[in-house]
Amino acid sequence: MDGNETKCPCCGAPDKEVHNFYKYGSLIRVCKNCGEKYLDRSFREPAIQGVHPRAKNNYKNNFICIIGAVIFAVVFAAQALWFYKTKTPFGYDTQNQIGVLIISAGAVIGCILQLIYNKLGYMDKYNQRFIAESERRLQDPEYVKELLAFGIYVPKKYIKKEK
Ligand SMILES: [Zn+2]
Repeated sequence: MDGNETKCPCCGAPDKEVHNFYKYGSLIRVCKNCGEKYLDRSFREPAIQGVHPRAKNNYKNNFICIIGAVIFAVVFAAQALWFYKTKTPFGYDTQNQIGVLIISAGAVIGCILQLIYNKLGYMDKYNQRFIAESERRLQDPEYVKELLAFGIYVPKKYIKKEK
């Protein structure tokens, strides 16, 4: 979770809305200070633009998980070997050595868990939830009109015909 850093182009007030890592949300922001509506392309409307490239359960991202796990495993093994060879239980940089061991072990576990998460389809489920949320936002004809006015491409199925 991160705070958004975009500032209102009208009054300069920051948009403080909390968003997830992939910044899924409405592309049109309403300034809480002055009420101005403005486009923020750093947000992503997954029903239109698709899910974030890093959120895809694809070969590339899964491969990165495997490479990451291998690299951190090598770091862990090298550090463990160094620790074993030098036998400095309370030496000058024992704390750093232990720190590297803990962080690299954590990174290996993190990479493997991410891979399992992707492989079991949880990443797809996670994405589906945000696509559904995005589709709900696009049911609002006012929002679609505003997106079109800002020059954003909106698929035909979300554009309601005027009666
Ligand atoms: Zn403002």
